[in-house]
Order: sequence, then structure tokens, then C-alpha cells
Amino acid sequence: MRYTLVTGASRGIGKSAAIKLAEDGFYVLINYRSNHEEAEATLKEIQSKGGDGELMPFDVSSHEQVEKAITEWQEKHPDEYIETLVNNAGITDDGLMIFMSVEQWQKVISTNLDSFFYVTRQVLQDMLVRKNGRVINVVSLSGQKGHPGQVNYSAAKAGVIAASKSLAMEIGKKKVTVNCVAPGFIHSDMTDGLDESQLKKLVPLNRFGKPDEVAEVISFLASEKSAYITGEVISVNGGMHS
Ligand code: NAP
Repeated sequence: MRYTLVTGASRGIGKSAAIKLAEDGFYVLINYRSNHEEAEATLKEIQSKGGDGELMPFDVSSHEQVEKAITEWQEKHPDEYIETLVNNAGITDDGLMIFMSVEQWQKVISTNLDSFFYVTRQVLQDMLVRKNGRVINVVSLSGQKGHPGQVNYSAAKAGVIAASKSLAMEIGKKKVTVNCVAPGFIHSDMTDGLDESQLKKLVPLNRFGKPDEVAEVISFLASEKSAYITGEVISVNGGMHS
């Protein structure tokens, strides 16, 4: 069995990625923070299409929770390993920097950036020992070109991009690749409150993207077809390049 862990797989892009990776043949560990019903719905959809997986709730911003949940799984599956990790869970908490609280800063940095370190560190050793693995990080256009009101979020996503490039160099010899997918505006709960009719004018393709369109790139990066790509950032943004 081939295993993938998708963080934030209860909704949005993570849900689409989990379903797509299950279609690709992976057994999916479905992480989420609190939305148990939505995570169950992801699992049911995977199973209805002939795939399988299990729920793995933990808060990606808590290194204690990350270590506990993944170590428990690893101890129960001593002969198996997580071959593909999709670091997708993320949040925004926007505001102009002049009004931004320390809590707003720290929450966004820990959920989007610290989580990359906590979760990846926990699964990396097994990949290195097997000389096979994929780390796929969902970042953002905001981390490539900046976005007003998102100093915290763009700092976190830019941090993940830079960390991915360094890690890719550290572990390339072990045939473990590290890449990022950088969406622009994608339909999800995260973008629900945005005025699409106005914002789509900024997008050369004149529309918001679909979670499935990001999941396709994640699927490619998880596949053998992407074996010679590492340290890369692939944009899925309808042409809104930095
Ligand atoms: P979403 O619909 O709001 O879903 C967020 C997911 O992350 C949910 O499954 C949520 O779990 C999970 N999550 C949030 N905080 C978590 C935590 N501390 N621990 C574990 N899971 C946590 O978001 P989305 O739009 O799909 O975004 C997915 C990723 O794409 C994020 O990294 C985001 O920054 C990035 N992105 C999105 C867009 C966009 O336009 N949508 C653009 C660029 C980048 P619960 O259901 O339990 O809360």
C-alpha cells in the first residue's frame, strides 16, 4: 500500500487533493483540525470511488499534536511509511500591518510555516531510509509577490518556499523531492467572502480557479512523472504572475 498524508483535507484544496491522490492509488491519511463531519465526508467520497483512507486529526501548528498523531500511526505501521506528504493546511487572518496584533501574526505564521517544519520533520526520516518520497507544499501567490493586508500570510508562505528550496538541496541525493504549488484565487471557504466579480478582473483567465485544478498539479508532483523536478514552485493562478 502507498500512503499519503494530506493536511487540511476536510475542505477546499486539501479535500480535492485527497480525493485525487486516492484515485491515483494512495491510501489517504486525512488530516484536519476540528471539522470532523467534513473530514468524514472526504473519506466517504474517497470510499465511494473505490479508494480508502482514515482520519488523522491534529493541529498542524502544535508540534506536540503533530508528533503524537504521526508517531502513533508510525508505531502501528512499522513496515509502512508515508511516501507523499501534502502540507496543505493553512489559514489567513488579514489586516493592515499597522493594525495587526501579535496574535494575528503568530497564529498565521505557526499554522502556515511552523507546520511545514513540524509535519515534514516527522515523516522525512522514513522517506530518506526508503530513498523515495515526495513533499508537496501548498503555498500562495501572496508568498511570491506580496499582497496588501497579508504581511503575516505572505511572510509565512514565502518562508515555506525558501525552506522547500533548501530542503530540496539537502535531500535530493536520497531521491526525495520537495516542491511547492502556488495557487492564486481558488474557490474555497478561504475565499468565500471575496468579491469575485471585481477580483476576477485581475486574473488574465478572468475567473477564480477550482480546487480540482490545484489537485491535478499535486497529483502530478506526487507521481513518477515529476521525478526530475525538485525545489520548484508551480503556479496555478490563471496568469496572475508575480
Ligand atoms: P479552506 O477551504 O479554508 O480549508 C482549510 C483546511 O485546513 C481545512 O481542512 C482545515 O481543517 C485545515 N486547517 C486549518 N488550520 C488547521 C490546523 N491548525 N491544523 C490542521 N488543519 C487545519 O482553505 P483552502 O482554500 O482549501 O486552502 C488550502 C491551502 O491553500 C492553504 O494552505 C491556503 O493558504 C492555500 N491557498 C489557498 C488559496 C485560495 O484561494 N483558496 C490561494 C492560495 C493558497 P478544519 O476543516 O478542521 O478547520
